[in-house]
Amino acid sequence: MRDGMWIPLQHLLDRLSQPKTRADEVRRLRLRLREEPASSEVSAEESAASAELLRLRRALKEAIGQVVSCRTCAIGHPPPHGHFAGGHCCGLVTEDAWNDDEIAALRQTGTRPAHLQLPVGDHAGCAFRGPTGCSLSVEHQPNLCVRYLCPDLFREVYARGDGPRIVALCQEMEDVYLRFISLRAERLSKLQEP
Ligand code: SF4
Repeated sequence: MRDGMWIPLQHLLDRLSQPKTRADEVRRLRLRLREEPASSEVSAEESAASAELLRLRRALKEAIGQVVSCRTCAIGHPPPHGHFAGGHCCGLVTEDAWNDDEIAALRQTGTRPAHLQLPVGDHAGCAFRGPTGCSLSVEHQPNLCVRYLCPDLFREVYARGDGPRIVALCQEMEDVYLRFISLRAERLSKLQEP
């Protein structure tokens, strides 16, 4: 089914099975994602930068691996952050992780509205945060989510010995992300030229 029909139908289903706030937020995200151009519709440089971001997200996720910090970091914090035991950093407002650049980069590497799958459970912070973590695979997560190392996570990866390699990957991702947003801004400004 085409995204144009699928999004409103899925929104109706989400409204029946999910907290309304989550269903509505994700509908808006899916609509924004649908409006972004695919990689074939942007410059080769911009498309290469978004592809590089995907490679780095996968590499970083693998390098971080299984960690314990994220399971209990939110205990004792006020809601929405402390609503679940873990995932304190995911207690933010959805749009704060899903800015236009992140959505554009994801669209260019193949993320479609149907890939934005929801968790089961209360809505507490980002729409994709559930009681056991994020409901999205790394291919469909914003870059910010993958490269953010809170102090607890930072200490954990340094304690086990691979902190420098992980921090280097974070820095590489930040550099590529900055290049991507500048290429995208350039493209958008050209579109506005008379
Ligand atoms: S997309 Fe996933 S990792 Fe990113 S803030 Fe939302 S729940 Fe957290």
